Amino acid sequence: MTDILDFTHETPPTRVVLRPGAALDATPEEARRLGLRRLLVLSGERGARTARAVADALGPACAGVHTGARMHVPADVADRGVTVARAAGADGCVAVGGGSAIGLGKAIALRTGLPLIAVPSTYSGSEMTPVWGLTEHGAKRTGRDPAVLPRTVVYDPLLTLSLPVALSVTSGVNALAHAVEALYAPDASPLTALTAEEGIRAMAAALTSVVAGPESVPARSRALYAAWLCGSCLGATTMGLHHKLCHVLGGTFGLPHAETHTVVLPYVLAFNAPAAPGAAAAVARALDAQDAPEALRDLSGGLGAPRSLAELGLKEDDLEVAAAQAAGQAYPNPRPVTVQDALAVLRAAYQGRPPGPGQAF
Ligand code: NAD
Repeated sequence: MTDILDFTHETPPTRVVLRPGAALDATPEEARRLGLRRLLVLSGERGARTARAVADALGPACAGVHTGARMHVPADVADRGVTVARAAGADGCVAVGGGSAIGLGKAIALRTGLPLIAVPSTYSGSEMTPVWGLTEHGAKRTGRDPAVLPRTVVYDPLLTLSLPVALSVTSGVNALAHAVEALYAPDASPLTALTAEEGIRAMAAALTSVVAGPESVPARSRALYAAWLCGSCLGATTMGLHHKLCHVLGGTFGLPHAETHTVVLPYVLAFNAPAAPGAAAAVARALDAQDAPEALRDLSGGLGAPRSLAELGLKEDDLEVAAAQAAGQAYPNPRPVTVQDALAVLRAAYQGRPPGPGQAF
């Protein structure tokens, strides 16, 4: 024990409820606790039925349902959400759905200060962060503001029973990516390290159970528990190369969010491992494996997830543009990243070859 402890940790003021049925039976009570009486319920089109059920459960505390959420929160979608919230005289919002619905709730909170209750239906983790995103003229801007952090998060495994198995796996690996990058973040703390390792362990086990039995409420509960842990790591730390690459691949090339995270993660960890051996060891421990990057690729590939950026529709010619964009931005990473480095990581992910010790990064 020679290391001198040196950390700063802040615990964000989010209340978390997790139980089967909570979307309908806990959301009204949570609204009452917050003193909210005119809530606008938000969702995307696909989540409209669940959003209406939550609205019915809220009864007179519901001021309306708005099903206009879209991926990556386009600016006009945010504008429309603000207009609807103001016209309804809402005193808060309930976002029902994945990162897209929660993203709309955050965009409304950013502009109006209205408090947000999140009822997540994926494992993206957005509900645990003060990070907002807005897409305008083909570019996604993000920022941090405590005003957008949901006041209460209601995790209901019953909502995730309908999440297709393939999306469950990639969304779960999207959550793993938060925990992996938290392990080597400059603002990691002993608590985020514990949370990240347990989040990875719990998510890996839960995804295997979800694939074996997508209707299993215990498996779905464990996956949401893991998503909560991984999401809280995302909220508490600053992400590195992996999130930057995925941001570019999604924002500039329109690649799907969760699938992109799933393909890229093993290669970024293989690149960063020499500069962050403790993080790689923690991931390996959590996955009960020798080599963390290989174990990540085996986990998602074994559960049927895509393995290469080529499969996701990226063109080989796009790799250099993506590498230049990712390397040209400022973000903390345990290992410095040149354009050539970013290109090597992207090329390996494009091909989907094993990221093991032989990888020439
Ligand atoms: P999403 O919300 O767009 O959902 C993905 C798809 O799954 C959609 O088609 C949706 O309709 C469907 N879906 C969601 N829940 C379902 C369910 N239970 N059953 C059946 N279908 C369901 O995507 P996501 O992966 O949850 O989130 C990605 C978005 O969130 C991105 O825009 C990303 O940038 C953002 N994000 C933000 C943060 C943050 O901290 N701000 C964190 C993570 C993700």
